[in-house]
Amino acid sequence: MGKITLDKVTKRFGDVEVIPPLDLTIDEGEFVVFVGPSGCGKSTLLRLIAGLEDVSGGQIRINGEDATLTPPAKRGLAMVFQSYALYPHMSVRKNIAFPLRMADMDQAEQDRRIDNAAKILNLTDYIDRRPGQLSGGQRQRVAIGRAIVREPVAFLFDEPLSNLDAALRVGMHHEITELHARLKTTMIYVTHDQVEAMTMADKIVVLRAGNIEQVGSPLELYRAPCNLFVAGFIGSPKMNLLTGEVAKLHDATTIGIRPEHIAVSTTEGMWKGRVGVTEHLGSDTFLYVHDTGLAEDITVRVSGEVDVKYGDTIYLTPDTHQLHRFDQAGRRISN
Ligand code: ADP
Ligand code: MG
Repeated sequence: MGKITLDKVTKRFGDVEVIPPLDLTIDEGEFVVFVGPSGCGKSTLLRLIAGLEDVSGGQIRINGEDATLTPPAKRGLAMVFQSYALYPHMSVRKNIAFPLRMADMDQAEQDRRIDNAAKILNLTDYIDRRPGQLSGGQRQRVAIGRAIVREPVAFLFDEPLSNLDAALRVGMHHEITELHARLKTTMIYVTHDQVEAMTMADKIVVLRAGNIEQVGSPLELYRAPCNLFVAGFIGSPKMNLLTGEVAKLHDATTIGIRPEHIAVSTTEGMWKGRVGVTEHLGSDTFLYVHDTGLAEDITVRVSGEVDVKYGDTIYLTPDTHQLHRFDQAGRRISN
């Protein structure tokens, strides 16, 4: 079980309302990612759920029971932070065992849980080492192990991988996703990185200034962002957002077209432009196209095989089935 319900949950620090009244349901077994720019309230929201901060208003229910005033240790949630907070003088085994020793758990049961967590996380061979003798990724796995042995109702992760280099991060994404598939325990994962959100989540909650902008699966957000903020936030490179005449043609204030939904030709197309910077990723190439006569420059994503270079003239044609339209308030206009 691991259903978490937030009902008009509010947080003020002094006079500043960081989280305006917010409703959210996290279903049992879901992998939910809170994503949004730095300072938007992701950590605060997670800490409210964990009980590390008191709510200023509203109710938090865990598995249907009011947990708003329940102390953190009694909520059955396990939090994993960016700083691993391991005890340097203790072995991996002792670090993982720590919450169980605190709870005075029977030794045989402790051993069973620790061995199981070590196996799941590939830490068995390192179990007698100290944190200083481990890599960053292994240390983060120990921190996760310490959460697993508690057999929590839900795992709460606050940007747990920000300290790791890019390659390790990708490896850990897979491990955490795999862990979720195996344990089927509810997970809430906080990140400012939309790629992390897209690759890991069942359900993404996009936050801005403490407000939920949109909740949906990665593909729902990609296909139908509800406003300009989500349109610009989800997807890399960013969706092209065009204003002026071209938008008016489509009865909108702004139209959006993703870089991967624009065809490129050297001979003909809707917009003629000049290639600026090109970024070669190997599989794909990103082109930044100027002088199209539109108010904004255009980013296009083409196959890595396409042979264009700085200064070339090219023609662009958007796939009109993939256009997004937004009104004056920046809200999506449904088709
Ligand atoms: P995020 O995790 O999305 O980067 P935070 O939840 O840490 O954002 O912070 C949200 C906002 O709340 C920020 O404006 C931050 O300055 C403010 N804030 C966070 N904690 C406190 C605190 N203890 N006292 C006052 N303001 C805080
Ligand atoms: Mg944070």
